[in-house]
Amino acid sequence: MAAQLLIDGELVSALGSETIAVPNPARPQEIVGTIPSCDARDVDRAVAAARAALPAWIGCALSERIAILARAAEVLAPVIPQAATLLTQEMGKILPESLSDVGSAQFMLGFLPQEALQVTVTERISDDFGSLELERRPLGVVAIIVPWNWPVSLLFVRVAAALAMGNAVVCLPSPYASLSVLRCVAALQYALPPGVINSLSGWGPQVGAALTRHPGIAKISFTGGTETGREVLRAAAEGVTRTSLELGGNDAAVLLDDVRVDEALGNSLVEATLTTSGQVCFAAKRILVADAIYADVVEVFRAAADRIVVGDGLDESVTMGPLVNARQMHRFDEIVEHAVADGAKVLEAGSLSPSADEGGYFRRPLVVTAVDNDNPLVAQEQFGPAVPFQRFASEAEAIALANSTDFGLGASVWSADTERARGVARRLEAGMVFLNRHNMAAAHPRGAFGGTKRSGYGRELGRWGLQAYSELLQIIDAPVST
Ligand code: NDP
Repeated sequence: MAAQLLIDGELVSALGSETIAVPNPARPQEIVGTIPSCDARDVDRAVAAARAALPAWIGCALSERIAILARAAEVLAPVIPQAATLLTQEMGKILPESLSDVGSAQFMLGFLPQEALQVTVTERISDDFGSLELERRPLGVVAIIVPWNWPVSLLFVRVAAALAMGNAVVCLPSPYASLSVLRCVAALQYALPPGVINSLSGWGPQVGAALTRHPGIAKISFTGGTETGREVLRAAAEGVTRTSLELGGNDAAVLLDDVRVDEALGNSLVEATLTTSGQVCFAAKRILVADAIYADVVEVFRAAADRIVVGDGLDESVTMGPLVNARQMHRFDEIVEHAVADGAKVLEAGSLSPSADEGGYFRRPLVVTAVDNDNPLVAQEQFGPAVPFQRFASEAEAIALANSTDFGLGASVWSADTERARGVARRLEAGMVFLNRHNMAAAHPRGAFGGTKRSGYGRELGRWGLQAYSELLQIIDAPVST
């Protein structure tokens, strides 16, 4: 499959006509398709198309934009099965996860614009100081850059909010997950006016750098690693361009001593840690367990992880796919080797599907105990299926361990006593804390998704996410002197 870009309402190739071959991480010798390799000229034309589309799009009443975006959701529906299959083939995750990723794009296009009705209300103030009106207006052209792990939903949460608020967008997916994203964006040519949404593809250090430095961009919404986030900030500094950064995470799941330890807990913890082979920004990446229940928790987790079958994500019997690429796999292996060299105990769980190709980037789940807090497996973001367990003697120690990281994306607290859990949650340095769960389904669409510390800033979803794609204009009304 040769993917194309959508620029100014037309499906086109990159101006340089170069392409990038996309391998399948389950069978790296198999090429799934090609994507255009864009350069600065493609960035220029995408931004120009978006800027040209702005006046008419801003001129649409919100009710009209809601209707057009609802139509966009409709045209996306028939594309979902194909885009989800492409997503599994290009980055490896199992098909049900890909269907959920692409399906949520359709949901967001319908849901978020409706929510915009609540945030676009003009506020009028009239008192002894004078009278004024505060109204929200769009920013202009928004550049949206997303990584490969949940690319379609990450992109469309932002696209839906930005477009609903009257902006135009230029999207850049990761080269490891562009086939699915470009397929979805291409479908929108049948619903959205030309130039309102435009797509690019190619290597981040080239096309991403050109996009983030482009003077025609009013805001950059970046999702990815913390190091790349710093690069984006440096680029944004040149034009004093607004940014929102959703960066890496090293979420702790804190299990207090009154948790009921059973098979259901094991399954929940496996979902929290091993979804998408552990390659989720807000996966639980460290499990902190009260001394009294530590051994039992490790055991229910091991039993649940043992039921995992690793292999090609299109195989229905498989429950965990490969890692996304060789670079990610080697980085993961190094982190695990370091932990072993430092004396950690590593137990391999689950099984490899008999149909799994020998060359695939498969790694079975690892249950890791006796690991120090400063070991890279605990201190860094492992982004793979190795789950470290640590123990604590008191709530104070648990909180200190949970907060002993530069990251601050999410966390979770597990307890039979919800008020007790809430009390611990308030002391955790994270943008979002889940109680007795830690998974995607818990990311409420009216919530405020985002982190603190080195996990970035800004919020997506809900009214806070929508507001972030607008700015305030205040009109101050002076009495006319007669
Ligand atoms: P990267 O930061 O490496 O890349 C993210 C995207 O940025 C890619 O498309 C990349 O392209 C592109 N990019 C690279 N260099 C630049 C540049 N100079 N300017 C602009 N864009 C650039 O992250 P990964 O793709 O490896 O994704 C994993 C990371 O993303 C993890 O740390 C994870 O936690 C985080 N993440 C955060 C989420 C959140 O909501 N907080 C959600 C999902 C993931 P290329 O691949 O070509 O380098």
